[in-house]
Amino acid sequence: MGKVQDFRCVECNENATELHRDYSNGILKITICESCQKPVDKYIEYDPVIILIDAILCKTQAFRHILFNTSLNIHWKLCVFCLLCEAYLRWSLLHSSEQSSDPADLIRYTKEWEFYGMFLLASLELSAFCGGVLLVVWLLVSCLQSQSLELGLLLKGLLLSSYGKVLLVPTVIWEHDYSPLCLALIKLFVLTSNCQAIRVILNCSRRLSILTVCLGLLCETGVVQVCSSLPSGFKELLRFE
Ligand SMILES: [Zn+2]
Repeated sequence: MGKVQDFRCVECNENATELHRDYSNGILKITICESCQKPVDKYIEYDPVIILIDAILCKTQAFRHILFNTSLNIHWKLCVFCLLCEAYLRWSLLHSSEQSSDPADLIRYTKEWEFYGMFLLASLELSAFCGGVLLVVWLLVSCLQSQSLELGLLLKGLLLSSYGKVLLVPTVIWEHDYSPLCLALIKLFVLTSNCQAIRVILNCSRRLSILTVCLGLLCETGVVQVCSSLPSGFKELLRFE
């Protein structure tokens, strides 16, 4: 390969060639950033739980550590798991609204087709959201030509920062009067994380990251609208109504 791994300083986003230096007699020393004179990545000494807490608090340093300085490669698995959580939520909402004691309904309840339909729908919406964000960023970067763009890293960042969706399952399991509020808060949290991931990867302003997320949301809403105006045969298949 021969390629020097490119790390980033978690404090100032400056490039760094190493996170720590290994001296021969087993002594490790954290590299100090030449630009800001702080440790390049203080998180390499931290417990994963602390890193997770800082990521939940949307700290840019924690996001930089995860996205640039680790080789965390679970984004696709996490994405599928989050989609399953979302499909489960939609599927359970569909059945909780029916309240039928008809045995035929109970038999249908055991069929998972509707669940797969919901999974497909959730996948479509996520693809529209990510596609919208990537398209906006690509257009912006090609207009400004300010920096090289890593769309793969951006997609990874978007998928990883959507981890909050796993909270949908406990919300469904411990159903109570405040569930709609919880769902809205989870959505807000996921979008905030998405904004922060975009901000860290592009090293852009908060306003620009919010704008890209809003445009991504617009694409997602477009797909929802298109799906809800599908012919009734499709709707019956996916049971949108
Ligand atoms: Zn620095």
